[in-house]
Amino acid sequence: MQFEPVIGLEIHVQLATASKIFCGCSTEFGKPPNTNTCPVCLGLPGALPVLNSRVPELAAQLGLALNCEIRADSQFARKNYFYPDLPKAYQISQFDRPICENGWLEINTESRGKSRIGITRIHMEEDAGKLVHEEGGTESMVDLNRAGVPLLEIVSEPDIRSAEEAKAYMEKIHAIATTIGVSDGDMEKGHLRCDANVSLRPSGQEKFGTRTETKNLNSFRFVQQAIDYEIERQRDEILDGNTIVQETRLLDTDRKVTFSMRSKEEADEYRYFPDPDLPLVRLSPELIEKFRKNLPELPEAKMQRFMEEYGLSDYDADVLTASQEMSSYYEKVLAEGGVPKLACNWIIGDLTRVMNESGKSLKEINLSPENLADLTKLIEHGEIGSKIAKTVFAEMLVSGKTPETIIEDKGLKQISDEKELGRLVEELLAANQPQVKQYREGKTKVIGFFVGQMMKQTRGTGDPAVINRLLKEKLDG
Ligand code: ADP
Ligand code: MG
Ligand code: ZN
Repeated sequence: MQFEPVIGLEIHVQLATASKIFCGCSTEFGKPPNTNTCPVCLGLPGALPVLNSRVPELAAQLGLALNCEIRADSQFARKNYFYPDLPKAYQISQFDRPICENGWLEINTESRGKSRIGITRIHMEEDAGKLVHEEGGTESMVDLNRAGVPLLEIVSEPDIRSAEEAKAYMEKIHAIATTIGVSDGDMEKGHLRCDANVSLRPSGQEKFGTRTETKNLNSFRFVQQAIDYEIERQRDEILDGNTIVQETRLLDTDRKVTFSMRSKEEADEYRYFPDPDLPLVRLSPELIEKFRKNLPELPEAKMQRFMEEYGLSDYDADVLTASQEMSSYYEKVLAEGGVPKLACNWIIGDLTRVMNESGKSLKEINLSPENLADLTKLIEHGEIGSKIAKTVFAEMLVSGKTPETIIEDKGLKQISDEKELGRLVEELLAANQPQVKQYREGKTKVIGFFVGQMMKQTRGTGDPAVINRLLKEKLDG
């Protein structure tokens, strides 16, 4: 029996505001526990919320970028539940009048090609605090610095059909949110978190199966892992004759499996009602139009432009435009005269690898666009080969010196001079007669040995193209 996965995502995006959603407290990350707090976000009796006007503005901008209708008078509602990280015993969220509805986003994957994922709604809400569990002990502590940090929740239609599509969708949301600047999109700080709803149905059947919801997935990889695991698990359960229970699950990131947290029935009676402390959020049609006009170039359009203007493949353009930070860095490199295809290769290759290995952001790595541009020019003009380029690149990251200085200091200039290389080739052949004989008897593979020796002789600075040609001439001649 064949099954089709049906997937819908709820993505939480942390907004890039300086202060919280209903009070003036700072949203700065990493402060000592409970220092970014006041009576409002501590939930003290009598404290009243006042909406940070940046929040609906950013929500509307993201909604427009995701092809949503923007509600002119949306409403906050109380979602009631008890948990120690929620001092008011309700979360201020939105219910039946969210700020954005009926949008869509197009994604592109290898398995299904282009598909349009519906966006049911986007609503504004406050984040909860954080519980800190004492190591090996019995006590838990509450840090409310995060309580009241503004979030948008983006709810998709159940239009996603694979873990690959879910990942592509989440990456695209990340790219758009960071491009417009509504979020810093720092995954390490939990700026993008996702709940994945997964069900299976027999292929060809219209009716959806029972779903599970795996909560709090804070990386693209975890989303993929959780969904792949759930698809497998549910298929096994169904084939064993068991029924799927609607429940909330969590991902064990070490074992790459999901496990049950609670069943749905116990959880979802939130007794939503309009928050009497907050007025309707009004956005004028003029303001919405202004936001629409001022939207920056979105990743999709940027990708097309990169392909046309810089001759990049769709893969390269897609990777570069996946984050605002990376695409703007790339364009800075080009503005300094960088060679488009080479600059692209260095950024999505070596530079990204260094970022992943060191856990540093592009900003923290501090490679000036000018230096990278110069490196690509030197390669393009044949002044250094690929091996030397790697040495120069590594040295630039350490010292921040220009490639020219590094090449000068370390004597790394490429030797293309035919006379000089020719003399070295002749010396080498004279000193290795047995290998020369082998070559002339048809074992032409030994040329690799000679190339290697030449590179050693020149400490990697010999021009490989010239060396190869000279070797062939002398050996064949
Ligand atoms: P809840 O309020 O319980 O979270 P919603 O109806 O708002 O439920 O749906 C939440 C998410 O679950 C949405 O992204 C939706 O697309 C998805 N979803 C709903 N039904 C299914 C299903 N049968 N299989 C997979 N996903 C589903
Ligand atoms: Mg839900
Ligand atoms: Zn506060």
